[in-house]
Amino acid sequence: MSTIHAGIHTGVSTAARLPLAARSEHLVGSVIDSSTSLLAEQTHDIVRLAMGSPAQDAIPAAALSAVPLETHAYDYAATEGDPVLREALLAQLAGTSDETTPDRLMITSGGMQGLDLAHKLFTDPGDLVVVEAPTYTNGSATALSYSADLLEIPVDEDGLDVDRLEAEVRRIGRRPKSIYAIPTFQNPSGATLALERRVRLIELAREWGSMLIDDDPYGLLRFSGDPLPTLHELADGDPLVYSVRTFSKTVAPGLRVGWVDADPSLRQLLVNAKQAMDTCTNLPAQRQVAGFIASGGFDAHVADQRIVYKERKEAMRAALTEHFGGEATWTDPDGGFFLWVTFDAPIDTTALFEVALAEGVAVIPGNAFSPGGLFPHSMRLCFASTPPARIAAGVARLRTAVDRLAAG
Ligand code: PMP
Repeated sequence: MSTIHAGIHTGVSTAARLPLAARSEHLVGSVIDSSTSLLAEQTHDIVRLAMGSPAQDAIPAAALSAVPLETHAYDYAATEGDPVLREALLAQLAGTSDETTPDRLMITSGGMQGLDLAHKLFTDPGDLVVVEAPTYTNGSATALSYSADLLEIPVDEDGLDVDRLEAEVRRIGRRPKSIYAIPTFQNPSGATLALERRVRLIELAREWGSMLIDDDPYGLLRFSGDPLPTLHELADGDPLVYSVRTFSKTVAPGLRVGWVDADPSLRQLLVNAKQAMDTCTNLPAQRQVAGFIASGGFDAHVADQRIVYKERKEAMRAALTEHFGGEATWTDPDGGFFLWVTFDAPIDTTALFEVALAEGVAVIPGNAFSPGGLFPHSMRLCFASTPPARIAAGVARLRTAVDRLAAG
């Protein structure tokens, strides 16, 4: 399979005659992650609105490196997670919508490993997996890597359209093995699943016996509106709900520390699967996160980030109004990292990528978020990692890029 997205190569060369497994055909690669490598090669100034990284100017590097790491912190850790982090995390979650118990908690190498473990346990080749349209590229790629058939269901301003989901599943007459949902400040749309839809989604999963993969990395980063209960809380211990969480957005993605909250009956399978994958999650990083939580630094940091992100979102919306008012629409999320922009005219955002990069701004084309290529005229912009003045400069460069593309 060879795929080229405007200079971002995610395809593989099959020239070598090696005895590849059939499933290697389904390793589609991530336009988002590949853009990191592509951007690293560029020597000109680029406003980076592409990656979903937290505020680069606010990574708590000093606090993390101040956590003392004795020699034994460089040893192997328990597969289910270092007891020091497990204890700090359980205390941190107590009283929140993600409160949990030790028998449900498993520390993972980022949220991605939680997604991979879910599909390793539940997805056989040809199983039907529901994904949101648009959805998080790497999440759908994980399902595809286990040779799933994907069913894309639209997201509107209230999140996944559960009525459409129900109608489509009835129409095709196939029971989904799992439903992959990002209920809060969705990546890439920023949409939040309304309360009644959350409840209905759990009902549908129960009716169909489908696993509900509840991926919620951004929920704590709310800067307006009232918090909603997580799918985890609403499901009240239903074994069908499998929740994936990460510190990548609230602390730092390079740490690669996250967790899974799953039915205790899955515990040993999860441990066995992780042992066959990476043995344990990086122990120094687990200790750094634990120390950061225990010091109170985590809560303070998240509170600060909410203020920063609100300001950045508003700066991005203002810049979009200035440069694209009347020509495009964009979302207005209550939290998280992303705005989803859709042009009124049929502007090919895949072609725009390269022109924009040359102009000094990086964005992710809409079709990166849809295995079926449903969003050729949309794009995702991350407001989180860039200060307001740079955001304004980046959107101005995007305007130039759109004009250049139109001029041919
Ligand atoms: N799920 C979603 C919706 C995400 O946006 C991300 C990160 N971009 C992840 C999962 C993966 O998180 P991590 O970097 O911790 O693997």
